[in-house]
Amino acid sequence: VTTSDPEEVREHVAASGLRGRGGAGYGVAAKWRAVRRADDTVVVANGDEGDPGSYADRLLMEVHPRRVLAGLALACFACGAARGRVLVRSEYPTALATLRRAYERACEEGHFGRDVHGTGRVLEVEVGAGHGSYVAGEETALIASLEGGRGCARARPPYPTERGLWDAPTVVGNVETLAALPWIVSRGGAAYARRGTPSEPGTKLVSLSERFARPGVYEVELGTSVEHIVHGLGGGLREGARLAVLQIGGPLGGFLPADGLDVALADAELAARGAALGHGGLVAFDDSVGPADVLRHTWQFAAAESCGACSPCRVGSRLGLELATAGEDPGEDWVRLARVLEEASLCAFGRRLPAAVRGLARAYGQRFPAGWAS
Ligand code: SF4
Repeated sequence: VTTSDPEEVREHVAASGLRGRGGAGYGVAAKWRAVRRADDTVVVANGDEGDPGSYADRLLMEVHPRRVLAGLALACFACGAARGRVLVRSEYPTALATLRRAYERACEEGHFGRDVHGTGRVLEVEVGAGHGSYVAGEETALIASLEGGRGCARARPPYPTERGLWDAPTVVGNVETLAALPWIVSRGGAAYARRGTPSEPGTKLVSLSERFARPGVYEVELGTSVEHIVHGLGGGLREGARLAVLQIGGPLGGFLPADGLDVALADAELAARGAALGHGGLVAFDDSVGPADVLRHTWQFAAAESCGACSPCRVGSRLGLELATAGEDPGEDWVRLARVLEEASLCAFGRRLPAAVRGLARAYGQRFPAGWAS
């Protein structure tokens, strides 16, 4: 704040090629360019980590709260925002308390407050808890919940960068994305861009589920093979269990078959296999869970977490659960339902459901009723 200017921070981030790590993958520099500079511009750190199987944000907030706050401060500085908000998942009370303590200390040290390091700049942050819903992690739903409403997605435009929290220009950044900023600004955007792949630079945190021999959060370069992550880092499955399918990127991300792990951890490569990187959660399923159970669980999750704001997803997720529970080939009912979900859902939650279900069907192959793959 005392030795550089906002443009310098923006240039580093543009050179880094950093994209949002929460799942949507939108370019950070582009989002910052789009935000309207105004007295009430606000940056929101999204720590409402909802993907079952992802706990990277939790780790960052509990173990590296100062890095998260430093990233938020840099984003505010670059976007000309005097206000920041941190939204912590309600099931993460330790992260909430840790971040609040870290913020108080950072204020005492002059990093935040009404006169940051004697520069006259104002930067004040509020750290609060989320409202316990999966969809509230989506940025328009998150803004609605911050305003005290139901955590439901809103139609866009207007985009939050133009009219977001209380109609103020708003930049929402995932906690992992923000936590990458201090490194990028201190080492240079070009240094960050040398990691990963030319089209998807940088690193990503991946969370390995409890079925792995070595579960945990790992930081890997984008482009690392999923095979290496599963077997090299994760050590395969515990107790010699055999991997049946791998869920990647959360319930709406996608599934890979056990013999289909020869793919790079990157959005484009995973998309070509019908999967998505999402927030980087890797959940291993062995043969103790049957394909029908995984399918039913996916639809139960969809029906429980659909926010209800649009009928294609509100009604469609329940219809999908009925079809899955019936245990038969869904035939034309599924083809019609998938089309409605993909074409008419208001947000990515509903639009992404058919791809996740088709990916699951492909991953299990002949053990699955063929109709779900269409
Ligand atoms: S698609 Fe689902 S989660 Fe998204 S707005 Fe519609 S009902 Fe809500």
